[in-house]
Amino acid sequence: VDLRPDPADEAFRAEVRRFVDENLPADLAQRASTGFLPNRADAERWQAILHKRGWSVPRWPVEHGGTGWTPKQIHIFDDELYTAGAPVPNYQGYTLVAPVIYTFGTAEQKQRFLPPIREGTQYWAQGFSEPGSGSDLASMKTRAVRQGDHYIVNGSKIWTTQAHWADWIFLLVKTDIEVKPQRGVSFLLVDAKSPGVTVQPILSIDGCHHLNATFYDDVKVPVENLIGEENRGWDYTKWLLANERAFSGGEVAVLKRYLKKLHLIARAERAGDVPLLQEASFARRLAESEIETAAIEMSVLRFLGDYRADDPRGALVASILKVRCTELQQRMSEFLVEAIGAYGAVFHPDVYEHAAGNNPVPGPDYATGLAADLFYRRAASIYGGTNEVQRNLIAKLGLQL
Ligand SMILES: Cc1cc2nc3c(=O)[nH]c(=O)nc-3n(C[C@H](O)[C@H](O)[C@H](O)COP(=O)(O)OP(=O)(O)OC[C@H]3O[C@@H](n4cnc5c(N)ncnc54)[C@H](O)[C@@H]3O)c2cc1C
Repeated sequence: VDLRPDPADEAFRAEVRRFVDENLPADLAQRASTGFLPNRADAERWQAILHKRGWSVPRWPVEHGGTGWTPKQIHIFDDELYTAGAPVPNYQGYTLVAPVIYTFGTAEQKQRFLPPIREGTQYWAQGFSEPGSGSDLASMKTRAVRQGDHYIVNGSKIWTTQAHWADWIFLLVKTDIEVKPQRGVSFLLVDAKSPGVTVQPILSIDGCHHLNATFYDDVKVPVENLIGEENRGWDYTKWLLANERAFSGGEVAVLKRYLKKLHLIARAERAGDVPLLQEASFARRLAESEIETAAIEMSVLRFLGDYRADDPRGALVASILKVRCTELQQRMSEFLVEAIGAYGAVFHPDVYEHAAGNNPVPGPDYATGLAADLFYRRAASIYGGTNEVQRNLIAKLGLQL
């Protein structure tokens, strides 16, 4: 694989960068650069701008609004947007459920759900995990019983990210409990405003509200909201997870944003009489972080360079990158907090709720949210399939153990 920069890719990067410079609203860029996280309204606003340009869903097939870009171009696009501080689109809608809908959904489901996801006006949450059923997802207990033209759903889900913002939840339910666990699963699209749906906040260790427990008490779900066939939901779930991994690689952008911030801090802070950048142990750690980030990015690019959707190595590479990326994210988030010294101890309220500029917090802008982020990153080795489970997959797929 030729890893030298390709002039066509560089021209594409320049085009994306120019678009972001000209179109990313200043308050959104400022919100990101001052450590505040984008909320639903921010994500919607940016998605509408992208939609106008025809760039809101680059990964989707062209017939559903995709751009037809190569995987490498999509990587460049993600990289430019995230590094500039653009809000990411609703992940659960854009990356997780939409591909299931355009692959397995009915014509009516495609017509109904794809346009609002594409335009950023409809928000989704993922209702898979339950207490006791995370890695062992097939042991889930939430039931759906068919009554005429509806299912009646009872049960609960946990860790439902952003369910408090969601219009819809895609839900795994048991429709047959007499068969092998994987055989009796169905995949339902549930209106989050249906009577009987309760969303209960869970505040995480970073002090923010990302997560929820969701409860389903006699929730009526029309049969037309079933994806594919009843009891085939496990197949669609496996497909969703494999497709999600094929879409991954975007995590590198987190590392690059960390590097940018480390450089900012290194220029602004001092270690005794010298700028932080000249302090030997800081400089060494920064260099190590840069080398590791570059190595991961090269691996992503090498993989994308000869990527084919049916490549059996895809799942293996995705698991390796998930482990390497999230472990480095955790180390770099610690490094950032160490670099800001005493500012790391300042209490910052929920970084979603507080708009940049209001209720200013003590200390420099670059320190806001870093301690919260360090705590949040603890979860990176858990969500999306724990790193232990990824290591099992690497042992099986890569080492044939
Ligand atoms: C921030 C965050 C956001 C999330 N968002 C969502 C969401 O939106 N929707 C959703 O449905 N879920 C979500 N999850 C849930 C996530 O998918 C699960 O937490 C994850 O799959 C692990 O499941 P668990 O928590 O039940 O842990 P368990 O599966 O009980 O695992 C506990 C420990 O045992 C280890 N372990 C389990 N099985 C094995 C094995 N076979 N071999 C070796 N070690 C093993 C695990 O690695 C872990 O260390 C989120 C989680 C987090 C932390």
